[in-house]
Formats: sequence, C-alpha cells, structure tokens
Amino acid sequence: MSKTISNKLHAFIDLDGTMFHGSQAIDGADHLIECLQEWGVPYLFVTNNSTRTPQQIAALMGEMGIQARTEDVLTSAQAAAAYIRDHYKDPFVFMIGEEGLQQALTDCNIRWTNDPVVVEQKHIDVVVQGLDRQFTYSKLEAASIAIRKGAASIVTNPDVQLPSDKGISPGAGTIAAAIQAASGVKPICIGKPEAIIMEVALKQLDCTPAEAIVVGDNLLTDIQAGIRAKCLTALVLTGVTSKSSYASYRENSNDLPDYVFDNLEQVRQLFEQIRENNDTERALE
Ligand SMILES: [Mg+2]
Repeated sequence: MSKTISNKLHAFIDLDGTMFHGSQAIDGADHLIECLQEWGVPYLFVTNNSTRTPQQIAALMGEMGIQARTEDVLTSAQAAAAYIRDHYKDPFVFMIGEEGLQQALTDCNIRWTNDPVVVEQKHIDVVVQGLDRQFTYSKLEAASIAIRKGAASIVTNPDVQLPSDKGISPGAGTIAAAIQAASGVKPICIGKPEAIIMEVALKQLDCTPAEAIVVGDNLLTDIQAGIRAKCLTALVLTGVTSKSSYASYRENSNDLPDYVFDNLEQVRQLFEQIRENNDTERALE
C-alpha cells in the first residue's frame, strides 16, 4: 500500500483473538513467534488485559505452545503504571484492580492503596482503575471523592464488555463509567483504542511509529490504537472481525488498516519478505 515499510520493523501483537482463543492457540501463532525470534525482529505482546501479570500471561501462552517471556508482554496495567510514573511526581495512588495492576504499580515503585478507608485519611494524587471483580460501593465512593478533591482519574482500558463463560460480563470500562458518573470526570484511558499504550510500547522497544506495525483482530481497538499512534497496522481475520464485517466497515470508515491478512502465516510472510529484501540490499552493498 501507500506507506513504505521500514526494514527494521517492530511488531506489537494483540493476544486474545490474534494469538489465541481462550486456552487454544490460533493456527500459526507458534511459528510466527519462532520466526520473529530467529530473525531478530523485536516484538511485544500488547494486551488490554489488566488483571493478569505478565508472568501469568507468558505461562499461559507457554502452555498453549507459544513461546513467550515475561518481558515480551505489555499489559494495559503496566502501561498505566508507566504513564503514572512518567507524569506524576511521587504520587500516592488509589488502586481499583486485580493482581496485574497491583504488581505493575509495585514494579514501578509507585505507592498505592486499595483500601477505601485509607483514601478517607490520606491525600490521593491518582485514582487508577482496571477490571476489579471485587468492586464495591465503598471503592466507588472513595474513588469519586478523591477525584472530586482533585486526584487524576485513569482507567487501564475502556472495554465495557468482557466475553466470559456466562455470556457478556462487565469490563473495566463498565466500572469506569460508574466512577465517571459519580465523579463527573472523564478518565484518561491508557489501553487500546487510545494511543497511550502504543506510545509506552514504542518507548519500551525504543523505535519510532514508522518502524512499528500493530497486529490485531479488532478494528475498533487494535487498528484504531495503531492509527492514532501513527504506526503501521495489520488486521488479521482470526478473531472478532470476519471477512464480511470488514467489508461493511470498509465502506463506512476512513480508518483502514494498512494490511488485511486472513491468517498468521500471511503475517509471517510479510516479515519474511522484509528479511529477504534486507538480505538482497546487503548483498548489493
Ligand atoms: Mg483481540
């Protein structure tokens, strides 16, 4: 397509619907990752999931046969913690979330509490919220009061719907909507479709947007985030987007991905092509 492709392309790869469904690896996921490793292509798994730690995600992927190291995973919780570390000076944080967010804050040396009683007694600089399946009225009240007193409001990811065994369960964005309704403040959103998580990813791999391609199955999250962060984008039809839903989207939107691939083998071939071009260039020098 119109954009030229960098010869040192970095990959930001979505997980759910792109690498796996539930506990089942998607065809070609293992081979794609093996090849990226062999060819020395830098990549990160970029996920809106805020509840799991990168260790847990890497272990789950290992069980599915996809090679993943802890340092290959960037969750919306880690991106939120990095954002807080970089934008607030020694903040005290009220955390509404699960293990993934707790560990991410601790790893960034950020002081935090998840106790609404502490929030009543101490000054809170930032309220950060992810999916919290122990969410209560007390937490909602404490968050709202802290934000009304001037604390920043940050949500890890805007997903309002979470596919689960029971059907569609409430996501982090659903809780964020309650906090916004109570506090009157729209939160800063870190995860896809916002660009912030991709900006953290770019920083982590030390590359420019032109050197990065966002690979994912969701036009409204992965591809949007990639476009907003000015990265290249590749839609894979392995998850939520079908051929026919993409066809109708294409007629109604200008935010189109740079590439559309039916499967992960085609993603692998894109990187193989870049590698072969690099080899040719080197041979000509
Ligand atoms: Mg996905």
